[in-house]
Amino acid sequence: MAIRELLENRIIPYKMLYEAIEGTHGLVKGILPETGIPSLRIGLEYIKTVMKDFIDKSGEGLPIIGHHFSFPTEYLYCFDCVPVCIEATSYLLAALLPHGSEPFYDLITNWGHPFHTCSSQKGVLGMTLDDLFKFDAIITPTAPCDNTYASYPFFQYHKKIPLLAPDLPFLKEEKSYHYHGEQIRLSLEKLGEVIGQEPDYERLRKVLEIENNVTTLQLELFELKKAVPSPVENMFNAMAAAAAIYLSGREEKLNFYRDMLDIAKKRYKRGVHYGGEEKIRSIWPYMIIFFDLALCEWADRELGMSILFDIFNYNFADLVDTKSDDDTMFYGMAKKAMEAPMTKQSAEFYYPFIDDCVRLAKDYSADCFIFTSHIGCKQFGSVPQILREALRDEVGIPMLLIDVDVGDARFASEKIIREKIKLFAQTLL
Ligand code: SF4
Repeated sequence: MAIRELLENRIIPYKMLYEAIEGTHGLVKGILPETGIPSLRIGLEYIKTVMKDFIDKSGEGLPIIGHHFSFPTEYLYCFDCVPVCIEATSYLLAALLPHGSEPFYDLITNWGHPFHTCSSQKGVLGMTLDDLFKFDAIITPTAPCDNTYASYPFFQYHKKIPLLAPDLPFLKEEKSYHYHGEQIRLSLEKLGEVIGQEPDYERLRKVLEIENNVTTLQLELFELKKAVPSPVENMFNAMAAAAAIYLSGREEKLNFYRDMLDIAKKRYKRGVHYGGEEKIRSIWPYMIIFFDLALCEWADRELGMSILFDIFNYNFADLVDTKSDDDTMFYGMAKKAMEAPMTKQSAEFYYPFIDDCVRLAKDYSADCFIFTSHIGCKQFGSVPQILREALRDEVGIPMLLIDVDVGDARFASEKIIREKIKLFAQTLL
């Protein structure tokens, strides 16, 4: 086997993803009308380009760095490396392949990993057990959940992969942002020693500036979602979640947001909803169903239900100050990381989450909430009833609760989930 192929084979699941993305993108282009699901068409186009770049860079021998989504991908661009987000990879495969990451969940479960842990991690744990990923190092903050603390040591102790774990505190205070900023810097320096590179903070600054520009566009798009009907299609949520990881810190992400904002503005001016009449405005305070992304389109077209937000899309982060000194930059990076979707909600007490949900419901004129209670996410299992009461008392809207594994169709199937949503929708009309 040629050296290049051997090197590329350190990220075999990315090759699988590339083929799945290419195939899906070809179908979208070949079958759907020009106006059909633009977020999917545009998002896949950009992700395909970036995925190809990752495979090429792996073939050139750049180090493969695994990371938790709580350590934002763009922070790794102070190195020449191929970043692999453990959680996003498990779920993008769940979204694009028949049976998704299920064979890998089974593999790691058979090895002895508890079945009820988070499928976002079990997928890549199984792939690594099977040597489909060959990581040079892995970095994860000590957050946001027990699954993270308990699952990542597998990489270090069983696979002997160097594991860096910057500490992430629970308190959201000035001293915490300073502390976590220092932890990020120290861990990047340590990571540099492991892979034999010096972190390039000037390059990092440029990448953060791209992300700042994305945030500005994102906030503009969120403002448009306040309109009734919402001018943003449901599939945008799924593609924005994928873009947050795979296009992180790159021009492609900026272009994705520019394209989507342009489309949303046109719909807004014409007062139209993507899927026909908007009858119900829903907010999903936790995750959408990754193994059934078509549900987004089904909700738009069959139910007239807008999904205004899911957890990966109500991100109102501050911009990172890139013009001052390094300390200020790391402070901003820490704040951004600690306020990031799911990290924020899972690494603090539930009061701010309830407050945010009530505020979102009011600001975005939501008719209902749909809470997907994910089996892996133990810390969130206690929240739904409190949230349901808060939404009822403060806003006067109902909440549907569905028990699922968002990345494993064998726990609650697509059919069962859609049936529950359909019945719930009927009670609202
Ligand atoms: S879904 Fe829950 S359990 Fe899984 S990584 Fe996120 S916070 Fe952790």
